[in-house]
Amino acid sequence: MAWTHDTGYPPAYDHPGYPVAVLLDGTETGGSSARAAAEVIGWRSACGCGWRGMEFHSRRDWPSSTGLAPDAVDGYDTGTATFAEWQRHLDRVLPELAVHDLARRLVDVEEQLRVAVHAARVAGLSSPQIRAVSQAARGIAAGSAVSVGRPARGARSRSCERSVVGVETGPPR
Ligand SMILES: [Zn+2]
Repeated sequence: MAWTHDTGYPPAYDHPGYPVAVLLDGTETGGSSARAAAEVIGWRSACGCGWRGMEFHSRRDWPSSTGLAPDAVDGYDTGTATFAEWQRHLDRVLPELAVHDLARRLVDVEEQLRVAVHAARVAGLSSPQIRAVSQAARGIAAGSAVSVGRPARGARSRSCERSVVGVETGPPR
C-alpha cells in the first residue's frame, strides 16, 4: 500500500512512498503476483520519484507468506522501518515541507482559538479577562521555550506578569 504525505502541499504528492519488493534476480516489484510471492527476498523503501532506501529488510528476517511486506517492515503504523526511511527522504527533497505543515497547523489552531474566544465571550467573559488568559498562556509557553534555549528567562517571565497584572487592574471594557 502506498503512503501519501497528505497535508495539501502539492509537491509532496509527487513522492508517494511504498515498500518495494526485491526479487531473487535483483529486480523490484510493487505488485503481489504469484511469481513475486515466491521470489521476493526482501523489501526496501521506495518513492514514486525513483528514490530507493538504503536499508534492506530480508524476508529471512521478516517472514511473509504472501510476499508482501509485513507490518514491521512497512512501518506505517509505528512510524518505523521503510516508512520512516521514506519520511527522511521527504525531509531531504522537500525541506520546506515541515514549514508548510506547521504553518497549516497554525492556521487551524488560530481558527480553533477564534471559536474558543467567541464561546468564552458568549459565556460572559470580558475581552480583558480573555486577553489575560491568552497572555498568561503565551508567557508560560515563552518561558518554557526560553528555559530550554536561552538564559533570559527571568526578564521574559517578569514582563509577562506585568502585562497580566496590567490587564487585571485596568479599566473593564
Ligand atoms: Zn521521492
